[in-house]
Amino acid sequence: MTDNLIDIRALKKYYPVTGGVFRRHVADVKALDGVDLTIRKGECLGLVGESGCGKTTLGKTLMRLHPSTEGRIYFDTAGAEVDAIEASLASSDPAEQAKAMARLREIDLLSVGGKRLLALRQKLQVVFQDPTNSLDPRMLVRDIVAEPLVAQRLVDPRHIPDTVIELLGKVGLTRDHLMRYPHEFSGGQRQRIAVARALSTNPRFILMDEPTSALDVSVQAQILNLLKKLQDEMELTYLFVTHHLLVVKYISNRIAVMYLGKMCEVGPTAEIFASPRHPYTRALLSAIPVPDPETKREKIILTGDVPNPINPPKGCRFHPRCSYAVERCRVEEPLLEEAGGKDRTVACHRWKEI
Ligand code: SF4
Repeated sequence: MTDNLIDIRALKKYYPVTGGVFRRHVADVKALDGVDLTIRKGECLGLVGESGCGKTTLGKTLMRLHPSTEGRIYFDTAGAEVDAIEASLASSDPAEQAKAMARLREIDLLSVGGKRLLALRQKLQVVFQDPTNSLDPRMLVRDIVAEPLVAQRLVDPRHIPDTVIELLGKVGLTRDHLMRYPHEFSGGQRQRIAVARALSTNPRFILMDEPTSALDVSVQAQILNLLKKLQDEMELTYLFVTHHLLVVKYISNRIAVMYLGKMCEVGPTAEIFASPRHPYTRALLSAIPVPDPETKREKIILTGDVPNPINPPKGCRFHPRCSYAVERCRVEEPLLEEAGGKDRTVACHRWKEI
């Protein structure tokens, strides 16, 4: 048994850039450049960062909607086995490495295929940002929710109508909604349909890719409460991708902060909000508006733009915008290290001093 449902190791995703008359490969957009991250069973991990930092790419690569360039993703694999495989991959013994590679073909989410992949697809689901795009406008709600059940042959065809009604009930809809099309619903109701479809395979993990960003504020709260309730009832694990920090504060147990294709800080939500360690996390949190005109909070304004992911800065990727940068930051890349406190890690050379 392991506490980790998903263990991501050294994940890379490069998008090739072509140029010239013959469309030759000239460079790569390094959307993910060596990401290590664990997602615990039953938790909601919030993934935050500026637009273009790689958070949506991470989610889509994890779901195998995009092929990865390098790396491994272990799903519900015992920690001891993960450590043994990683040690074998790092060893200089070719036989050890070959053994590890063979085992990875059976368990690595990025390598498995055929029936094993089909079985894993039942356990991994996704809710996209905009239900207007993610639901087929020509399909009835009945067929949208039933589609995964039919594709995966999970339920006797005679029981599908009852199963669909039960799923709609879980998200606050009724049998009256079965024979309608997505355009007949409000944005919040459409997202409920998307959630019902995601629940249909009885998943263990759901990627929530900005599921409330396209909704009105009042509806956002309803959907967040629904997601929390479902998580408790069905013992679900979420990766909640968002750029809305208050949403992530409300729903997440832990937060992972990304910058330019790398993790810069990971830790429990309350601790990160109380004492952010990484200068980038500090800047992000300082931008949250305070709903009290009397309260003055120092706002950290980041200078410059996010660097080009085709040619990221050497050393710490954040150094061109960091007011704490020293010479070491320009030449040596900081690795994620324990940062005083349970479950806290940060990638910064100077976190103890600032
Ligand atoms: Fe700033 Fe240096 Fe820390 Fe990077 S390593 S965040 S540049 S202080």
